[in-house]
Amino acid sequence: MSRTVIHGGLVVTASDEIHADVLIEGGRIAALAAHGTDAATSWSADRRIDATGMYVLPGGVDAHTHMEMPFGGTYAADTFETGTRAAAWGGTTTIVDFAIQTMGRSLREGLDTWHAKADARCAVDYGFHMILSDVNESSLKEMDRLVAEGVTSFKLFMAYPGVFYSDDGRILRAMQRASGNGGLVMMHAENGIAIDVLVEQALAEGRTDPRYHGDVRKVALEAEATHRAVQLARVAGAPLYVVHVSADEAVDEIAAARHKGLPVFGETCPQYLFLSTDNLAEPGFEGAKYVCSTPLRPREHQEVLWRGLRNNELQVVSTDHCPFCFSGQKEMGRGDFSKIPNGMPGVEHRMDLLHQAVVDGHLSRRRWVEIACASPARMFGLYPKKGTIAPGADADVVIYDPGAEQTISAETHHMAVDYSAYEGRRVTGQVRTVLSRGVPVIEDRAYVGHAGHGTYLPRGTCQYL
Ligand SMILES: [Zn+2]
Repeated sequence: MSRTVIHGGLVVTASDEIHADVLIEGGRIAALAAHGTDAATSWSADRRIDATGMYVLPGGVDAHTHMEMPFGGTYAADTFETGTRAAAWGGTTTIVDFAIQTMGRSLREGLDTWHAKADARCAVDYGFHMILSDVNESSLKEMDRLVAEGVTSFKLFMAYPGVFYSDDGRILRAMQRASGNGGLVMMHAENGIAIDVLVEQALAEGRTDPRYHGDVRKVALEAEATHRAVQLARVAGAPLYVVHVSADEAVDEIAAARHKGLPVFGETCPQYLFLSTDNLAEPGFEGAKYVCSTPLRPREHQEVLWRGLRNNELQVVSTDHCPFCFSGQKEMGRGDFSKIPNGMPGVEHRMDLLHQAVVDGHLSRRRWVEIACASPARMFGLYPKKGTIAPGADADVVIYDPGAEQTISAETHHMAVDYSAYEGRRVTGQVRTVLSRGVPVIEDRAYVGHAGHGTYLPRGTCQYL
């Protein structure tokens, strides 16, 4: 059994900061011991990694990605191969992607399609959520079987009428089913019926630039949908996870629900914490780079999101990584913002941007690891295999240099997309080395992994209840 020792670093988990050496045996964490103690110095090893001056972190868990996702007549630009490689470069060793049920087809068929896309291609481990596009008697029954085999979370949409949209009755039925089978309903909470009216009016009046994407997707319509989702979940007796929360008033709805003791959780994404409607309003057609839904909000919302992350009104930061190239893909929406594919690249930079938030004083180090590694693993039934550094856990480990300076750019990133949403942004902190189940994927800033190392992760049910 191969043995690796990581010595000299500061091990940071959601609960502790320990100056300790880490022993890895056969792909799992075997032991931790304080630097220089007899226990630590007695370990023999095939490989020793010097982490002096570095943080030793659990690998990041990005619970919201869309590799090769079909949208508006095109596909998200990262495949499972390029997307998981980019994830590894940024210290993320687990992704949970979304398999999609096509209208009129079974969940199984959608899941099989996504397995075929990912199988033997991933650089790091991966699991699946299921998008429910067609809630009916048979798909409701299928939910039970999926939960039993490790697809334990189901995303529903209150937006995108005619595509993914479910009405309140269908949502209620899916939530009732989830309350019985242990599944977790994830909600895209925006009132898509009302938004489509505003889109039509904006286009008719000649307001066609990217910034109007942000205008029509009103804060009130995110807050209203969030409120409605909470009430439906309450009636169904089901837990609820609201994805990509961007508006202050939506945070308020989640906080109010939690204050009542309801099992309601919220996720936000780096784009809502670091970018704003100023980006959507960039001159020319540049704003298209920042078109995603929920949309970027005015800058004032950011402080509410940071506060929500600090006091656990929001539990998880995922990326909603859904990259479309500016050239040829985003450009489909020139002259009509509603035709711009919705989504942004980000899987590579979540850990670094959130570390910058530690440097800037928004988060503590332990909270950084909690929202980026431990809580997503717990939320989606992967803990403590993923999300922590403790005996028995998978040896998904990031050696992180907290003092390294870097400038984010499309020139140097590894995502298969022709722009960066954070072009030119300087951040402090960088991944040095990444292990996935004890095997190096990134070694001293060189990619040494391979497609097919990553394995599929059947998941347990939510451990955050
Ligand atoms: Zn998404």
